[in-house]
Amino acid sequence: MMDKKLISVANLYKRFNLEAGFFARQGNYVKAVNDVSFFIGRNESYGLVGESGSGKSTTARLLVKMYEADSGEISFHEQDDSINVRLLKGASLKSYREKVKYIFQDPARSLNPRMSIYEILTSGIKWSTAGAHDKKQLRDEAASLLEEVGLSSMDLDRKPSEFSGGQRQRISIARGLMMKPKLLICDEVVSALDVSVQAQILKLLIDLKESRNKAGMDLSFLFIAHNLKVASYFCDRIAVMYKGEIMEEASAKDLWKEHYHPYTSLLFSSAIGNDSIPKPADNTTPAESASVGSTPLSTADSAGCSFASRCPHAMEKCKIEKPEIKFPKDDHYFCCHL
Ligand code: SF4
Repeated sequence: MMDKKLISVANLYKRFNLEAGFFARQGNYVKAVNDVSFFIGRNESYGLVGESGSGKSTTARLLVKMYEADSGEISFHEQDDSINVRLLKGASLKSYREKVKYIFQDPARSLNPRMSIYEILTSGIKWSTAGAHDKKQLRDEAASLLEEVGLSSMDLDRKPSEFSGGQRQRISIARGLMMKPKLLICDEVVSALDVSVQAQILKLLIDLKESRNKAGMDLSFLFIAHNLKVASYFCDRIAVMYKGEIMEEASAKDLWKEHYHPYTSLLFSSAIGNDSIPKPADNTTPAESASVGSTPLSTADSAGCSFASRCPHAMEKCKIEKPEIKFPKDDHYFCCHL
C-alpha cells in the first residue's frame, strides 16, 4: 500500500474550444477538466472512473503532456525532489515520459502493424535517455517480459496482426513495462475486450504489480475505466468523475460498501445490476430515468451542481449553489448538498 506520493495534481483545468479558425467565437468551449486535484502514491493503483466524456482520459493525457493544461499544478516526486511537469521540455520531458508510460484502449491502433513484436517492445528503449543497449541483453529482456505477460519468447519475431485482441493488449502492457516505469497509465485497457479476457488482463496487472513490489521496484497505476465494478476490483483508491470534476473519492473498499454521491450510485447500479447495488447513505436507489452512457458536455459556467440535470434527488438549491466538499472520513470525500 501507499506510503509516499508519486505524482500529485492540484487545481487542474483544461478547456477545448468548440470552434477553430480565424472567425472562431471566443467563449464557445467545453470544460474537459475543471479544478481537479488528486495524488497517486508509490505502489498505489488509483482509478479515475466515469462515463465517456467525463474528463478522465483528458486528465491522464495532461499528466504526460499529450495536452497542455490551462492552469494548475502537476508534480512528480522523485526521492527528495519534486518535478514541475508542466515546465518540462526536450530531454527532461523525454526522461519523464520514460517513467510515466501510457497504455491505450485499442492495441490494434497503437501497435505498428509493420513492426515485429521485438521492434515494438524495444523501439522506445533504443532511443531512450539511458543511452545504447547491448543487443543480446535487449532481446533477452524483451523475451523475458513477453513471457511475464503470458506470451512466448518465440512470439518476438511475429507481427501484431497474428495475435488476438487480448494478446495484443498483453503486448502493449509489455511495451509499457520495458522502460521500467514508475507509473503505468492504463486508459480503458480492458473495455474493448470480452468479459473473460478482461478478467485475465486484470489478473495480469495485479500479478505484475505484486511481483514488482516484491522485487522492491516501485510501480503505480492510474487505471481509467467507465465500469466501477472493474475499477473496484483492481484499484486501491477511486475518484468518480463527471463533467470534468471529481464527484467522490475514497478507497475502493469504502466506496463499494458506502458511497454518498448519486452519480456514484448510478455507476454502481449500471455496473452490477440494480438488485445487488450497495445502497447509498440515504437508502435511495438511482431513478430509472438516470441512465448511464456518456456525459453531456460541460460548456457553460453554471452556478450549481454539474450533475443537477440528471440527478434524481436534485433540489432548487442544487441549480444555484455549488455543493461543498464533505468528508464522511479522512480519506473519503464527496460533493453533494444531500
Ligand atoms: Fe444531486 Fe443536488 Fe447532490 Fe448535485 S448536489 S448530486 S443535484 S442532490
